[in-house]
Amino acid sequence: KLSKRLQKVADLIPMRAKIADIGSDHAYLPTYLVEQGKVVKAVAGEVNQGPYETAKRTVEEAGLSDKIDVRRGNGLEVITAGEADTITVCGMGGGTIVEILAAGKDKLYGVKKMILQPMVDSDRLRKWLHQNGWRITVEELVMDEGILYEILLAEPGQEVYSDPLWYEFGNVELLKNHPLFPQKIACAIEKLERILRSLQKAQGEDAGMKRDAMLEKKNRLEEVW
Ligand code: SAM
Repeated sequence: KLSKRLQKVADLIPMRAKIADIGSDHAYLPTYLVEQGKVVKAVAGEVNQGPYETAKRTVEEAGLSDKIDVRRGNGLEVITAGEADTITVCGMGGGTIVEILAAGKDKLYGVKKMILQPMVDSDRLRKWLHQNGWRITVEELVMDEGILYEILLAEPGQEVYSDPLWYEFGNVELLKNHPLFPQKIACAIEKLERILRSLQKAQGEDAGMKRDAMLEKKNRLEEVW
């Protein structure tokens, strides 16, 4: 059984997708998708030996070695252009996801959907997507063991947010009807308040400017709520 987080990712994968799961670790996601009959063939990519071996073991034990190709390599270098139409990169920092996508841009040709689940720095990911010909069509949220996770679905297209808050927080229009939206706002405000408290003791112009920026952000969040 998948974690609630990976289940949400799995739910966003289209039927019969040709997927490449990059940074697959245990390969639970592709294994689940093939077992469910949702995808026929998958690639699981891993850069590190330990997780690569774990992935191989999961796939072998499930008897799916003919359907899931576990490959060792950095990011998208494990696939050829056109091999996958759906890419998943989950459970990594937004910065790492950006590095993987930027380094493998030539492999994104023909990719119709990317399901990305950044643990932190999702603003960097949203910006990169917009600067590189992707639109964000779904902002999904999931609460798993007390942690609120963000999941983005990106598709080829042009899009720019005029509001910087949307890069940091996600497109409010896509999020506002989500049952976890109030929790997401509450989490973001809480985080700002934590930073504000730590800035309280700091002296100087720099700290003052940071404090003002945080307060401004907090006001904006309270506004969209
Ligand atoms: N995707 C799984 C999930 O969401 O549960 C596993 C997440 S795990 C925290 C991150 C995995 O990404 C690790 O197994 C790590 O070895 C792998 N990884 C990190 N950077 C990578 C890269 N550039 N290319 C391929 N795999 C990478």
